[in-house]
Amino acid sequence: MSQETIYALASGRGRAGVAVIRLSGPDAFTALAALTEGALPPVRQATVRSLYSLDKAFRIDQALVILFKGPASFTGEDVVEIHLHGGPALISATFDQFANLTNLRSAEPGEFTRRAFEHGKLDLTEAEGLGDLVNAETHAQHQQALRQMRGELGEIYTNWRQDLISNLAHLEADIDFPDEDLPEGVAGAIRPKIKQLESEITAHLQDGKRGEKIREGLDVVILGAPNVGKSSLLNKLARREAAIVSDQAGTTRDVVDVHMDLAGYPVTIADTAGIREASDSVEQEGVRRARARAELADIRIFMTSAGDPPVEESDFADLVEENSFFIINKMDTVSGDKPPQIGRVFPVSVKQEEGLDPFLEALEQEVVQQLDVSGAPSLTRQRHREALEECVQCLQRFAVAPDPELAAEDVRLAARALGRITGRVDVEDVLDVVFGDFCIGK
Ligand code: GDP
Repeated sequence: MSQETIYALASGRGRAGVAVIRLSGPDAFTALAALTEGALPPVRQATVRSLYSLDKAFRIDQALVILFKGPASFTGEDVVEIHLHGGPALISATFDQFANLTNLRSAEPGEFTRRAFEHGKLDLTEAEGLGDLVNAETHAQHQQALRQMRGELGEIYTNWRQDLISNLAHLEADIDFPDEDLPEGVAGAIRPKIKQLESEITAHLQDGKRGEKIREGLDVVILGAPNVGKSSLLNKLARREAAIVSDQAGTTRDVVDVHMDLAGYPVTIADTAGIREASDSVEQEGVRRARARAELADIRIFMTSAGDPPVEESDFADLVEENSFFIINKMDTVSGDKPPQIGRVFPVSVKQEEGLDPFLEALEQEVVQQLDVSGAPSLTRQRHREALEECVQCLQRFAVAPDPELAAEDVRLAARALGRITGRVDVEDVLDVVFGDFCIGK
């Protein structure tokens, strides 16, 4: 158990109907006792108590208190939640009392969750999921975070790791106890299993970075010559004045980002400086950045004005992809019949707000398709990706390892890489499986 007891405001800052102060550690209960009168209430039972200063000279508030006896608590330690009225003065008065108690200190950021991890209440992916849940701004982020916090992602890695460890146990038994009465051809039997695992992990890695994009937002860029109406479109999309609209060519000199929620998914739409032969150096820099950004984008929207040559004839024709969108703007300036929408080509008038709905619908569909959260959980961080890639490399080395010791080492390293993702790296469980499975030396 950690020696110090920590406390912090668990709810948001500022005035509110209710504020929640949380304490965790060996002195959590005694700290509450010091601020209240009479016996402590039973655990896990919300109870009204008056809170006083330590010397009982004044009353702080009437609060609802709940005690959780470790290890059956969020952190695994003794935890107290104090629900008081959400006023700055009474919260700081409470903190002042805690500051005068020994062995209490205010918590560092993330320290409650860290203690929960240290006491085995959460694995690292679940702790990350909890962090994402608090930060979620869109429905997709919310759902993904909830699944990760509930352990769906960690479970995948834990199961893979268990598989590896059990295979490793068999391999090691074969190395260490060649005379024992072991099943025939252990190493031979393991190879196809490891190969199967390697393909599963490789498939999991080839997810189009779905999970990471749900966390960070899908990158969409609007590309086109100056003055075709890119900023106007962005402003319409964002329903606010996010980029400067001007009728002078080359005013959007850098990249303007707008973060938005499209069909529940987070999207960052960037308005880029017009890609064209830029004369002045500031604009050239803008063009360079626009191109760099466009190259990395998940979805590109190419914009021209009515009467302009098609995108295919422009300098950035090489950036066109199968999932790109094409907008021909300023249709209001064209007399006579307007061209129909064909496939991903949308004739619109941003100014008159004509033709934008079908485009938005198609864009939303594309976003949903790229980020769909309904399938198997995806990895959500570069950290996961790196560990999984390392794991695959180890398994590939295993397949060509010249001798059993090296083969076993590759499997051990592969398991360790997976263990780093969930934060459960230990060797004891290898031994458990060896003795559990084979009963060697019984
Ligand atoms: P950008 O340089 O591509 O970002 O273009 P802007 O959005 O700054 O627009 C350039 C000019 O075109 C502005 O004067 C806009 O008002 C005008 N504009 C934008 N969309 C339309 C449209 O659909 N029809 C007409 N007639 N003008 C438009």
